[in-house]
Amino acid sequence: MANELEHFIGGKRVAGTSGSYGDVFDPNTGRVQARVPLASDEEVRAAITNAAEAQREWAAWNPQKRARVLMKFLELCNAEMDSLARLLASEHGKTVPDAKGDVQRGLEVVEFATGIPHLLKGEYSEGAGTGIDVYSMRQPLGVVAGITPFNFPAMIPLWKAAPAIACGNAFVLKPSERDPSVPLRLAELFIEAGLPPGVLNVVNGDKTAVDAVLTDQRIEAVGFVGSSDIAEYIYSTAAAHGKRAQCFGGAKNHMIIMPDADLDQAVDALIGAGYGSAGERCMAISVAVPVGEPTANALVEKLTERVKQLEIGTSFDESADFGPLVTREAHQKVTDYIGVGVSEGAELLVDGRGYRKEGHEDGFFMGGSLFDHVTTDMRIYREEIFGPVLSVVRAADYEEALRLPSEHEYGNGVAIFTRDGDSAREFAGRVDTGMVGINVPIPVPIAYHTFGGWKRSGLGDLNQHGPDSIRFYTKTKTVTSRWPSGRKEGASFTIPTME
Ligand code: NAD
Repeated sequence: MANELEHFIGGKRVAGTSGSYGDVFDPNTGRVQARVPLASDEEVRAAITNAAEAQREWAAWNPQKRARVLMKFLELCNAEMDSLARLLASEHGKTVPDAKGDVQRGLEVVEFATGIPHLLKGEYSEGAGTGIDVYSMRQPLGVVAGITPFNFPAMIPLWKAAPAIACGNAFVLKPSERDPSVPLRLAELFIEAGLPPGVLNVVNGDKTAVDAVLTDQRIEAVGFVGSSDIAEYIYSTAAAHGKRAQCFGGAKNHMIIMPDADLDQAVDALIGAGYGSAGERCMAISVAVPVGEPTANALVEKLTERVKQLEIGTSFDESADFGPLVTREAHQKVTDYIGVGVSEGAELLVDGRGYRKEGHEDGFFMGGSLFDHVTTDMRIYREEIFGPVLSVVRAADYEEALRLPSEHEYGNGVAIFTRDGDSAREFAGRVDTGMVGINVPIPVPIAYHTFGGWKRSGLGDLNQHGPDSIRFYTKTKTVTSRWPSGRKEGASFTIPTME
């Protein structure tokens, strides 16, 4: 009998009442390990009502007191790091060390948000006019929501929840239905850390739950991370219902390898960034762009050997480079893409299809695949595969290499490997993507900077975490004040100016 999961509303786990469920797999065995309730419209609206009631009192707590809850939460998560990582790995399929990284990168944004007393400080201009002072303050929006993907079930919910609640909002999280157990546990830990019930509610569900969030007038802002088609749907629907939205989508991250790059370093970087977490990362490198034929030939030779040596294991296998894919459906999709690449004429140097893990024959395992001579008209180049598949696109020169990521419809991350500071600087300035790595393959910015892609990888004007997150989760109020001792000029019928 599969374990039955719940929602988390008003400070406790609550059974689903819709009668509708989704399957949560164990990707290592292929078995259904839990059923997750899929919330009805009414269940979501009840969770929002509960959050709205809790938010009023929470917003009245001073920011330092709110920060202390986050500090306690950090302590609890750190004490529970091992079991959180194992729980995460058991539903997602990533390895336990990688799952710890998932939790850790989320906690780093909680650490950032503990600075909320400082981050919320407004602006002040004394004497903007005679006897006139102008100041601004940042106030919480009210109830805000997050809709998150399967591939970082701890990190992305925390990237959204921590700044949102630190600012004095209540947060309704709709996590991925593929791996909901860690978000539920994090919500429990927040309560243990002293968060008032209702300030963070978790409703599990699918499109029905998302649509309830998007159309409820009490939700002031929606933060989304997932695939680009859904990001566009969420962005336009949220805007049509008067909400602010930031929606981050899919990716096709290129790594440029210049002829002067340290090739061994570049190969190590490509192996880790291309195949880590079975390629199920929005910042995974999926396209390698060697510049010039000699670089391409040398790179491909080294890469081929390394891809063949990749160790695929269960999430709990300490020697595994990566684990299984998240679902059978994901496994099939990646398998199909490899077939598409072959029929499009790309050269498949290493074929990861058909990989079987002994003793885990029904698990969603797949070996690493490597394509050479991929061209820009191919679907395997244009579309996001989201699996352990790396495509090599050979560029004749630097300008062609620069054009590839710049002209791609996705613009999440990009990396350049070179020893030449001039080229690196030039590249960082000109390339049309949101995040750039210089000899760093996965340039996920640290918590106090901001994270966000461009083009179809990111819709909305404010990024995740860092100072942008505080702007996103607050509204600015500006006060212009004059006390009676100021100048008395009588009634004025023209617009005040600073002349
Ligand atoms: P997904 O788009 O399938 O799902 C994301 C969320 O949207 C989930 O909570 C899901 O329940 C919900 N959803 C799915 N279909 C919906 C629909 N029709 N209407 C309303 N809501 C719907 O994405 P996923 O497979 O969980 O995650 C992988 C994707 O996320 C990849 O494309 C990856 O690149 C992207 N991603 C992007 C970033 C980033 O920062 N840009 C980070 C991580 C993942």
